[in-house]
Amino acid sequence: MCAKRTRGGSNRGRQPAVLQDRTHNGHLIHLRQVVKIYENAAGGFRALNGVDLAIERGEFVGIVGRSGSGKSTLMNMITGIDRPTSGEVLIGDTAVHRLSENQMARWRGRNLGIVFQFFQLLPTLSVLENVTLPMDFCRVLPLRERRKRALALLDLVDMAEHAYKLPAALSGGQQQRVAIARALANDPPLLIADEPTGNLDSRTADAVFGLFQRLTAEGKTVVMVTHDLSLAQRIPRTVLIADGEMVALPASGAGSEGQG
Ligand code: ADP
Ligand code: MG
Repeated sequence: MCAKRTRGGSNRGRQPAVLQDRTHNGHLIHLRQVVKIYENAAGGFRALNGVDLAIERGEFVGIVGRSGSGKSTLMNMITGIDRPTSGEVLIGDTAVHRLSENQMARWRGRNLGIVFQFFQLLPTLSVLENVTLPMDFCRVLPLRERRKRALALLDLVDMAEHAYKLPAALSGGQQQRVAIARALANDPPLLIADEPTGNLDSRTADAVFGLFQRLTAEGKTVVMVTHDLSLAQRIPRTVLIADGEMVALPASGAGSEGQG
């Protein structure tokens, strides 16, 4: 969601300002030496152990790894849902790890679309209201245009005819399509999806995956965690995480193999 609106800012343009121009070293997402330690009774558990990751604007990147390897923890660093113990999370011109809670909520609402494995639609709101909600929080559009945009997004994911139903009346695949429409509500340049097909049958998973492919083709940057190796093979770049460390990180732009 999107906590407070900046004073006096005209939010009429649909493209959010934050991720537009200046980026850290030219990368859209740049994680530098990210460490995440969860404290528990037995001491600290190192879920991420010095992760470096650079993702470029317009890329479709898959994150794969065994259960418990740190994929969701990594996603939570990028979305600002959780903070690193040390290291930097740079997205566009924003140092995400340094934002206050309020700044974080506003930044996230404008710049990120987040899709979860279990859809997380609000059960008491209609499909249309679920998709309108992020726009209400961020006030990106005038009130009467929000509904129109929500219907257009539902049309994009082939769910317009279900706009007035409650989520419980939908199948898993339909709920996930609504969740993707909701993630697109504020036209974020970046989509983060943590096992978005993990709870879907393979045909439905395929349709949802196709939507992500289409969105990247239209210029969005997509980072998707997946367990599904047949889907992972179709993602242009995949990075593997094991025990909180990047195992294979294909050269991206600067620096290449065989130099050291
Ligand atoms: P993945 O998404 O790859 O399955 P996670 O990032 O969820 O893995 O978890 C990585 C490791 O960190 C696991 O061993 C998990 O048990 C542990 N972990 C995750 N969240 C917490 C937490 N809030 N507190 C303590 N340990 C956690
Ligand atoms: Mg996970």
